[in-house]
Amino acid sequence: MIRLRFAPSPTGFLHVGGARTALFNWLYARKNNGSFIIRIEDTDTQRSTKEYEKNILEALKWLGLTWDEGPDINGEFGPYRQSERLDIYKKYAQQLVNEKKAYYVIFDDKNNEIQKQYTYPEEYIEKGYSFVIKFSVPKEGKTKFYDFLKGEMEFENKYFDDFIIIKSNGYPTYNFAVVIDDHLMKITHVFRGEDHLSNTPKQIMIYNSFNWELPIFMHIPLILGDDRTPLSKRHGGTSVNFFKENGFLSDALLNYLAILGWSVEEEVFNVFEKIKEFEPSKISNKSVVFDYKKLEWINGQHLRNKPIREIVNAFLDYLKSENYIVPNHTEDYIENVIKICREKINTLQQLFDISYPFFHEDYKYEENYVKKFLLKPEATSILTLAIDELSKLELFSIEEIEKVLRNISSKLNLGTKKVFQTIRGAVLGKLVTPGLFESMYVLGKKRTLERLNKTLLFRENYEI
Ligand code: GLU
Repeated sequence: MIRLRFAPSPTGFLHVGGARTALFNWLYARKNNGSFIIRIEDTDTQRSTKEYEKNILEALKWLGLTWDEGPDINGEFGPYRQSERLDIYKKYAQQLVNEKKAYYVIFDDKNNEIQKQYTYPEEYIEKGYSFVIKFSVPKEGKTKFYDFLKGEMEFENKYFDDFIIIKSNGYPTYNFAVVIDDHLMKITHVFRGEDHLSNTPKQIMIYNSFNWELPIFMHIPLILGDDRTPLSKRHGGTSVNFFKENGFLSDALLNYLAILGWSVEEEVFNVFEKIKEFEPSKISNKSVVFDYKKLEWINGQHLRNKPIREIVNAFLDYLKSENYIVPNHTEDYIENVIKICREKINTLQQLFDISYPFFHEDYKYEENYVKKFLLKPEATSILTLAIDELSKLELFSIEEIEKVLRNISSKLNLGTKKVFQTIRGAVLGKLVTPGLFESMYVLGKKRTLERLNKTLLFRENYEI
């Protein structure tokens, strides 16, 4: 049985690097009909918070990276938490002490090491002294393991010092807890960031000291910013939340994270349909640069390629989660608006901006529109003529609207660009919108005429 895990430390929001690690683990588990589990590594009591834990779990759910087991919390699988397993780590540390593979180190109140021993330091504890448990690193030989991407890895033991496995607050260190848990949870493959490569030999030493079988490791090269340092806030938003709030689709983000390292033929795809093709050996052993523009482009592809209902739902969810006003128009109307608007944009945030005037009467005239078109002397005749001619239309169709607008341009002897932009800004407030005739058609005759009249009035009352 193939079993993988994602083991985040709740010391920050879920970073896209973490999300990619989770994705590769999840993909491999799903491909092999194995299990994927979540383990919260909250042994750093100073930096771990419940808020970060909640954010990480919600971000994983939003991405659709579901897990298969864990303690029952209201009928759902909760995560495993290291802070709830302290007795287990102590028991295994004690076993190593009994076998003289680890020992107690006692500190006085000035934090000086005063004693090392194999017996439980009862008498010192009574005096209020603290202790840790340290692992005895073999003094000779080599520690070896096989990495999926990097092949055979070898480290000389003599370069390692004995290291702490149980801290003075009774919590295990990361390197100890991770081994105990991966063993007890029967993890077969450990895929994680390359930043952990230097920890792995210490973990292997612990596996070896228990005579436990090793999982297969894969250390994935890090995601870098454009200056080739690890991607961080200095480069821009890095949390899954950031991308959610800025109107990215979870499927598009997953798609982009998948191709950040995994070389697969197509660029745009649904990860859920590519599970069977996932091949860890096709992950590049080179660092990759996070390209915000590319991600936005991929998001645009998903926005345009998915069934319109799916995008409408994603859009409405987005408005709710960002506390924007949700339009109360008919489903058909919303669908028609989104259909024409999505051709022009790449994110749900941009979709919100461009579709705003279709849903709200309080849309604003862009400054550029007012200066370059609305306040020009010919604007009055363009708008007046448009109102006259459009109100005569019996059939308010895209073709008829187009004919009317082109006629205005020849009648007034003005370029079509001038005429179209003057009308575009009048009905939508903006100069970049979906196709003008389609937009007017979607708005309908009544609202189009109301808006042209309103704009004319606005112009008359405009004080310079
Ligand atoms: N808690 C570690 C981290 O967040 C997990 C590393 C591992 O997967 O072993 O980096």
